[in-house]
Amino acid sequence: MALGEFELIARYFTGDRFAYQPGAGVVLGVGDDCAILRVPDGEDLLVSIDTLVAGVHFPARLDPAHIAHRALAVNLSDLAAMGARPLWFTLALTLPAIDEHWLAAFADALAVLAQRFGIALVGGDTTSGPLSITIQVHGAAPAGSALRRSGARPADEVWVSGTPGLAALGLRHVLAGSRDTVAARTFLRPEPRIALGSALRGVASAAIDVSDGLLADAAHIAERSRVALVIEPRQLPLAPELAALAGRDDALSLALGGGDDYELCFTAAPGRAPAIETIAAGLGVACTRIGRVEAGEGARCTGFVPRRAGYRHFADD
Ligand SMILES: [Mg+2]
Repeated sequence: MALGEFELIARYFTGDRFAYQPGAGVVLGVGDDCAILRVPDGEDLLVSIDTLVAGVHFPARLDPAHIAHRALAVNLSDLAAMGARPLWFTLALTLPAIDEHWLAAFADALAVLAQRFGIALVGGDTTSGPLSITIQVHGAAPAGSALRRSGARPADEVWVSGTPGLAALGLRHVLAGSRDTVAARTFLRPEPRIALGSALRGVASAAIDVSDGLLADAAHIAERSRVALVIEPRQLPLAPELAALAGRDDALSLALGGGDDYELCFTAAPGRAPAIETIAAGLGVACTRIGRVEAGEGARCTGFVPRRAGYRHFADD
């Protein structure tokens, strides 16, 4: 690599756009062997890490700006799922070669999303190898208040934000070479539901972000809560682009099994519905009741078995 690691970090991943806000708890940022970080008084620290590998988690020829947005957004989505506020992140970048145009576009998009969510880049590492991006996010929530997967109880209602399935339809568009449809943009630029997650602390009984597909992620809540989640297909909020698909089964399969939505699926006692509707209206994020929690196990959709649409491998180069 012509450009050394320190030069690389200094050129693309430092400066005002990655700087932390006063009061963000950064005692010492990039530049020493470790960052020094201080967890705010009275708060719990929440940590999550995700690796995105080219050709596995995203098509390798995706624009660097979209890769950067997705890499940080999917991590922020995990903080959203637990009602945490973003604080800091670290970045490990494995690159097949130093391509300065690629790096500039990657760093620009990363900085835009980091600034929007007030999350500071406090450290990183670069290595040479097949393209892969690892981001670890740190967030905080008032002690004991973070949302979990384990709190759903029979008689609770099941909710979802946004329009699940649209991102999976968008992936089809992207793989077919179209990046300008509403669906394609939803796949390329997922919007982490940080504000919604925070607002649901103390309101929702359990929550998860939809990464694997609505039904698969609902099953994770069911497993951790030792209950069953039952989704009513009629109540699913289908985006117009999904509803317009020729096959209703195809649309429902995308909505239930598509994945990559990064919306929140959560449960709440029926009496919480007015509070949830107020939160949703205040944030401008649609939240829809899609089913109920029962005694039992697993997640199912009444009268419908979606085609499996979980793990994918992008063999596009
Ligand atoms: Mg998650």
